[in-house]
Amino acid sequence: MTDLNTLAANAPKAELHLHIEGSFEPELMFEIARRNDVNLPFKSVEDIRAAYDFSNLQEFLDIYYQGMSVLLLEQDFYDLTWAYLTRAAADHVIHTEIFFDPQGHTERGVAFADVVGGISRALGDAKDKLGISSKLIMCFLRHLSEEEALATWDEAQPHLSLIDGVGLDSSEVGHPPSKFKKVFAKARAAGLHLVAHAGEEGPPSYIWEALDDLCIERVDHGNRALEDQALVKRLADEGLCLTVCPLSNLKLCVIDDMKNHPIKVMLDAGLKPNINSDDPSYFGGYVNDNFLALINALPLSRTDIEVLLRNGFEGSFMDESDKAEALHRLQNYIKNTG
Ligand SMILES: [Zn+2]
Repeated sequence: MTDLNTLAANAPKAELHLHIEGSFEPELMFEIARRNDVNLPFKSVEDIRAAYDFSNLQEFLDIYYQGMSVLLLEQDFYDLTWAYLTRAAADHVIHTEIFFDPQGHTERGVAFADVVGGISRALGDAKDKLGISSKLIMCFLRHLSEEEALATWDEAQPHLSLIDGVGLDSSEVGHPPSKFKKVFAKARAAGLHLVAHAGEEGPPSYIWEALDDLCIERVDHGNRALEDQALVKRLADEGLCLTVCPLSNLKLCVIDDMKNHPIKVMLDAGLKPNINSDDPSYFGGYVNDNFLALINALPLSRTDIEVLLRNGFEGSFMDESDKAEALHRLQNYIKNTG
């Protein structure tokens, strides 16, 4: 009988919660800083890794924005995205839905076209060379104002054919989803998919707002939904996917120990979580590392792993025929892996 780690590691899978800037490995950060002649406040790769010792979301975000400051040219965004895609391919990711934060770049004077162009070019190459399909989700930084988000929305208009959805990320507490009602209404009118980070550090009321005011189709994180039984019922009834990120939860102290991760509670409550890496360079692992951490810490069954893998495709924004094909591929893998 195949052990659960091997079953999960080799399975074809989807990743639905991945910030491309959070996949920036220190080695590539140094290389791009050197060729762009940007000074980093770190002397070595080890120095950077040593700085990845956060106790909350804000401490992480401070260093996250520092890291992305070396990204200036279209080729930088291509290289960043390609590095993630080759790493994801090694974990048998066959479909990925990537977040990017244009405001983290345009406010530094980088052209929107270079950001979205470099990322999209790598995603196109991944389809041809790695067999990975993808969707691209533009996130608004919630610590900034809605006026700034609306300006970014306007800036994105010439590039909407490359963008499949919008999301909401950055510092959650004090920045409720309702703050971004207008910009999400515009994205909805344009036919884009809608997601938002909610209930990671913020209260369950932020998840209600994301559902009612922003009309999201998927909840990013959503851990704190478990504090509100009416909310659990609604999420379960509507079958909304929760994009859960175990190593991120541990690193940002959303949980104190992987043994206390709520994934099993979520599954047992009828919720629909899948497993993702969030910001893998900063949080200590890619998607298979996240499965491994859960399997080692919790009494998950083979069925639990199969459901988590299936949820990744079911919760994706793939079109129905691609989704059916991916689920069929997963089902065959499961059947042939005793
Ligand atoms: Zn995230």
